[in-house]
Amino acid sequence: MAFLHPDKINSLYGLTVKEKLIGAGSGVKYYSNRKLATKDHKPEYITIHNTPDINEAAGTNDAEQYARATYNNNMGDVVVHYYIDETDCWHILADDTVGWHAADGVNGPGNTKSVAVEIIMDGSGSSSDKLAEERGARLAAILLHRYGLGIDRLKTHRDWYPKKYCPAYILPHWSAFVNRVKTYLAEIEAQEKKAAPAASAAPGKHYRVQVGYYGVKANAEAMVKKLKSAGFDAIIKEESA
Ligand SMILES: [Zn+2]
Repeated sequence: MAFLHPDKINSLYGLTVKEKLIGAGSGVKYYSNRKLATKDHKPEYITIHNTPDINEAAGTNDAEQYARATYNNNMGDVVVHYYIDETDCWHILADDTVGWHAADGVNGPGNTKSVAVEIIMDGSGSSSDKLAEERGARLAAILLHRYGLGIDRLKTHRDWYPKKYCPAYILPHWSAFVNRVKTYLAEIEAQEKKAAPAASAAPGKHYRVQVGYYGVKANAEAMVKKLKSAGFDAIIKEESA
């Protein structure tokens, strides 16, 4: 199979993510076709995995090769949401869809409530190895932010299945990794705040929002009822014309 071609390329907070989502017709044997077992199928956790570097064919990289291997059914039953390395990142399973990565079974929270990020590394501590980890931390922060999750929702594969020492290259310094994710999360939140600056009050000025002005009291009361049922507080002020 020729190199995988993304359907979409997204730029997210400085990270380029290539998207080619597995669907029911994609021929991927282990595509679950199940939505996450969470409210509105929204991810509740981000699970970090490590998988080893592989020989890179000319013109491509590890992340593309792993993503393509999934499409070619060469990954056994493993299906994750993201593959990321020091240069590339592929999103191959929709975030609201159950993957197969946590070893906690068909109903385990790892598989059914979390999004899997597979960081491709070799554990050598080389600059490219560190870069892959750094990019993985950034992606984890982006996903936590997207789903409004706190840092406590960042999990390891081992959290779901203690016998599995994964992410093998990151676990020895897991708390440092968590701190990197925290830093990125704070950066993203700061960027968001900058993009939408908090309105400051003009001293001495006040603004009233009015939604109706009626000649018949019953009509005013009907509007109040409508607003209250929509979740707004409302009052009627009687005025003499
Ligand atoms: Zn793992």
